[in-house]
Amino acid sequence: MRATTEPGSDAPAGTGHAVVMGAGMAGLAVAKALTAGFERVTIVDRDRLPVGTDHRPGVPQDRHLHLLLPSGVEALETLFPGLLEELCAGGATAGDTDRIRMCLNGHRLAPAHTGHRVVFASRPFVEAHVRRRVCEERRISVRDNVRIVGLAVSDDRGRVEGVELAASNGGDPEVLPAEVVVDCTGRRSPVPSWLAELRHRPPEVEELDVQVRYATRRYELPDGVLDGDHHVLVGPTPAGPRGGAMTYVEDGTWLVTLFAMAGDRAPADGASFERFAEELPIPDIHEAIGAGRAIDDPAPYRFPANRRLRYERLDDLPGGLLVAGDAVCSFNPIYGQGMSVAAMEAQLLQARLRAGTCPSARAWFRDVATVIDTAWQLAIGSDLAVEAVEGRRPLSTRILNRYLARLQAAATDDPRLTSRLTRVVGLVDPPSRLLWPTTVASVVRGAPRSGT
Ligand SMILES: Cc1cc2nc3c(=O)[nH]c(=O)nc-3n(C[C@H](O)[C@H](O)[C@H](O)COP(=O)(O)OP(=O)(O)OC[C@H]3O[C@@H](n4cnc5c(N)ncnc54)[C@H](O)[C@@H]3O)c2cc1C
Repeated sequence: MRATTEPGSDAPAGTGHAVVMGAGMAGLAVAKALTAGFERVTIVDRDRLPVGTDHRPGVPQDRHLHLLLPSGVEALETLFPGLLEELCAGGATAGDTDRIRMCLNGHRLAPAHTGHRVVFASRPFVEAHVRRRVCEERRISVRDNVRIVGLAVSDDRGRVEGVELAASNGGDPEVLPAEVVVDCTGRRSPVPSWLAELRHRPPEVEELDVQVRYATRRYELPDGVLDGDHHVLVGPTPAGPRGGAMTYVEDGTWLVTLFAMAGDRAPADGASFERFAEELPIPDIHEAIGAGRAIDDPAPYRFPANRRLRYERLDDLPGGLLVAGDAVCSFNPIYGQGMSVAAMEAQLLQARLRAGTCPSARAWFRDVATVIDTAWQLAIGSDLAVEAVEGRRPLSTRILNRYLARLQAAATDDPRLTSRLTRVVGLVDPPSRLLWPTTVASVVRGAPRSGT
């Protein structure tokens, strides 16, 4: 099958070969999507990719808890039919959102069934399963342990015609030609600076500084801990920029991540880890880990800022270049959005290619912006609810955050409100659903509370 050029665009005809830069979750999902319109797809990654679930240097965040939201589960299942079943056969647990204990803004929400599934597993496990499915695709080949060092462009620099690969012997880079190149190299993507070197305008960057510090440990906990629930999530409060999460993973252990934002410190050793957990607004994490044994020391991670590259605002992008995943937008990880947004972007690309059109860069970034907008609005709005985060708070943000605080308070004994909120933060429903008259009426009726 050959994808045709979108009418009126300068996008390339999808004749044959597409290259995906990076084999993280975005790169893998995008590669699968591209098989709907290209005869050959090559994924290039600088890491030597493991066969199993080993950690790898190109994804340093993979030791930390990664939750796949309902929207991400659905997008990945569309791209890789049967994946969920395979993950569960390999040891992961899939459960309705009512298996999650949530404390948001200091309020313990009533557990609620949404009919949407969440996957409880480690990041390397999910990535390994997706990678295995990608490697089984006849049209996809993977070149690992090779670094991409530049874009190959046409003489007039108006089209990207492939990528340059670092030569192993230190000689001239090898050019890997392609009709379309998709940058999925993550948050530290070199593409904006390569565009500047090629005398194209790089995208504007929007950032909200949050200075999140993570600390993660694995635990062995007794059977039946948390009465069979699989996940605990404790968000920050306006005055308390701390939180944590724990999840049951595929090998029967638990991943426990604690975080602090905006200049506050995350725990660095075992004793401070337990003290930090004890000071959270609900005791669930502290009590659970107190009943078991830590398997390792806290592993740290530092995430400086939400970061969005406004490719959709550029009007002189070279043809043949698309960008996806964290390379376009990386969100404060405490909201667990990145993998799901990447999968939703890939799902959109698959739909466009199945319709017979390879999107132009302009059309692609318009599409991607619509996927990102909701997640960005949620992440930025929630971060600005934390007083210690510095940033401009327009009146609309302040009003919305006050309303959300009331909604969370009312959801402590109204599972319908928990369900509506969970569907929005799970990126299933748009945030506007929380402003439906029936929801507003329930929030107004529900008495605001100050604690759990
Ligand atoms: C601490 C933390 C916790 C998180 N928790 C969650 C969560 O709970 N849920 C969730 O959905 N998301 C979470 N995220 C976000 C998630 O990790 C990313 O959004 C997701 O991995 C998608 O990233 P990506 O594939 O775009 O980039 P990455 O995962 O960063 O992958 C980029 C790939 O590109 C390769 N690469 C880079 N440069 C080159 C080059 N020059 N040549 C060749 N290859 C190259 C790298 O080796 C790597 O394989 C978290 C992030 C952090 C930091």
